[in-house]
Amino acid sequence: MKKVLFTDLDGTLLDLFDYSYDVALPALDALKKRNVPIIFCTAKTFTENEYYRKTLGIDDPFIVDNGGAIFIPKNYFSFRFDCKKRNNYCVIALGASYGELRAALQAIREETAFKITGFGDMTAEEVAKDANLTVAEAKRAKKKEYNESFIFDEPGEKEAVLFERIREKGFAVTHGGRYYNIHGEDADKGKAVKILTGLFEKEYGVVKTIGVGDSRNDIPMLNAVEQPALVKNKKGTWLDISLQNLYKAKGGGPEGWVEVVEKFISNE
Ligand SMILES: [Mg+2]
Repeated sequence: MKKVLFTDLDGTLLDLFDYSYDVALPALDALKKRNVPIIFCTAKTFTENEYYRKTLGIDDPFIVDNGGAIFIPKNYFSFRFDCKKRNNYCVIALGASYGELRAALQAIREETAFKITGFGDMTAEEVAKDANLTVAEAKRAKKKEYNESFIFDEPGEKEAVLFERIREKGFAVTHGGRYYNIHGEDADKGKAVKILTGLFEKEYGVVKTIGVGDSRNDIPMLNAVEQPALVKNKKGTWLDISLQNLYKAKGGGPEGWVEVVEKFISNE
């Protein structure tokens, strides 16, 4: 049976603190040898995804900006489907535009005086410092199209007010490893996973989907796959969710990721 792996990047395939992935390289090779698609499903931008795909030699579709859009390489599937052509990709967009999202954050800031700082308010140097990225990495991280990441510098109890304001404006919010993300209501990792799974099923018949993540913004993805898995987060524990047949890896970040790949793909 065709297996398809959906994976978060930050804190899952990539180490949360230094974005390293060396420990995962042999498992990545094993997946490629078995022709298991490795689908990035991440808050990262198109430009960041392209960078990691190139670096890791992955040619499969990917989900950017927390489910904002699905990029499918041209001719990846043997059939036609509805999408927008963009260079060598076929794009299915689910999210609101960056301009709309920035405007909503600006309005909330004016209404509430909350300390909200988006990537769009920061220079590449500031993003680099805050996210522990190089300036080149920060420039890629700032190229958002369907999502805006922001720092919410307020006491925890104000989070509910923030979430309410975002919903009132017709958008959605998620909280990832480091940042909050505002995005379109229809942009969610789960919807994107379901659309892509449908395309894989059309191509291969029955497929088995495995999803691996570490934090709250992964919940829709974990709900949309047959075999959900969590790696340990920065606190050395797992995201507190109850999901049927959820696998909890003993390792954090890429170490846990390798464990998941071995358990459900390489050793099966
Ligand atoms: Mg993550």
